[in-house]
Amino acid sequence: MSGSARATERTSGLSGSAPPRQAGGARSALWSLPGDVYGEMTALARASGAVNLGQAMPDFDGPAVLRTAAAGAMAAGRNQYGPSAGEPELRRAVAERPALAGRYDPEREVTITAGATEALAAAMLALLDPGDEVLLIEPFYDSYPAMVALAGAIAVPVAMERVPPAGAGLSWRLPVDALAAAAGPRTRMIVVNTPHNPTGRVLGPAELGALADLARRHDLYVLTDEVYEELWFDAPHVSPAAVDGLRERTVVCGSVSKSLSVCGWRVGWALAPAELTAAIRVVHRFLSFCAPPPLQLAVAEALRARAAGGYFDTLRETYRRRRDLLAGALVAAGLPAAPAQGSTFLVADTSGWWDGEPLAVARELVRAAGVAGLPLTSFCARGENARGVLRFAFCKDLETLAEAGRRLRSAAPAVAAVPLGGDR
Ligand code: PMP
Ligand code: GLN
Repeated sequence: MSGSARATERTSGLSGSAPPRQAGGARSALWSLPGDVYGEMTALARASGAVNLGQAMPDFDGPAVLRTAAAGAMAAGRNQYGPSAGEPELRRAVAERPALAGRYDPEREVTITAGATEALAAAMLALLDPGDEVLLIEPFYDSYPAMVALAGAIAVPVAMERVPPAGAGLSWRLPVDALAAAAGPRTRMIVVNTPHNPTGRVLGPAELGALADLARRHDLYVLTDEVYEELWFDAPHVSPAAVDGLRERTVVCGSVSKSLSVCGWRVGWALAPAELTAAIRVVHRFLSFCAPPPLQLAVAEALRARAAGGYFDTLRETYRRRRDLLAGALVAAGLPAAPAQGSTFLVADTSGWWDGEPLAVARELVRAAGVAGLPLTSFCARGENARGVLRFAFCKDLETLAEAGRRLRSAAPAVAAVPLGGDR
């Protein structure tokens, strides 16, 4: 069945003909969701004065035009509900972004949401039925399995290939063969994130081609999370929606959380063909109704002004410097990390320091070095490839990163090779 035909089916399901949720389905799934590791590590870092490279929050503000435009819109009385699909100015600005310019109709194919988190949720709730299987590429952003569970669907995690093994820095490949082996008659969707949190991978043409083959062969929706679309450092980011034959079955989710450094504003979007958008908009109406109008208007103004002024080129250059500084510091401290191709993350192998349960290693790093990272296992269902690996966010000032580097280097000799749980 084509993506559009399925969306029509789902839209009618939303108006009453879908089978009722099974008892013990999504609701019981809610209680087995993992705890908030971001909140835990941020609280621990705050309490102990550690440099927080755990939760990916910029420690700098986005462009000043955002704040003046938002204040202006509030002063001008734009403080009530706006159109549920989003302010038209912002839908147009989102549709004009270079990566997918001219491919989406702002009237019928762009929906503004409360961050990418809501866009992902709305897409899953709109397009999945209970019992559908969803391919998740592990490690993955933790909202994916949560939303799959809340939709009553079934997550099928497939581990990225980790090459080479521990010791020489880490790099990762899309597990094309394993994905093909995991896809079956009940598979309805694959979730792709490029640039990738947490590994920093940016999918290249061969991987995108293999993804397109898989999606066509199994008639899958492709849910693509592109929140880091502006943060690529080598080859430019290519949206899966721009790959031949994928647009009709793809939902693109994005936001300005990191590209304009305002992750607290909760402004994001979902782009999809009109039939899929119709279903997504129904769910969005009942999740948040609309993202805050004054913030939407400010983001519209900033996106247009910034794109014209080369803002994103400068942003990338600054992030490249942040990445290089942190990668150098990690390697110098004996924590090998491969340079990320994109995103705001480095993953480092800590097995030369400790061999322990991943969350214990993260806590021990705070205690021993005064630096917080997150265990890669928090982004995994099974985590065979994640033991000994921590994620560090570099959406931080250069001075913050330099301080993290100094702390790691001075802690290194004292901790090396001492077993966790020993007498330290
Ligand atoms: N997807 C990924 C891969 C993320 O890292 C994040 C956090 N920035 C999100 C989605 C959520 O983004 P938002 O803040 O726009 O909800
Ligand atoms: N996206 C951010 C991260 O990966 C945090 C999101 C959150 O705190 N919910 O760290």
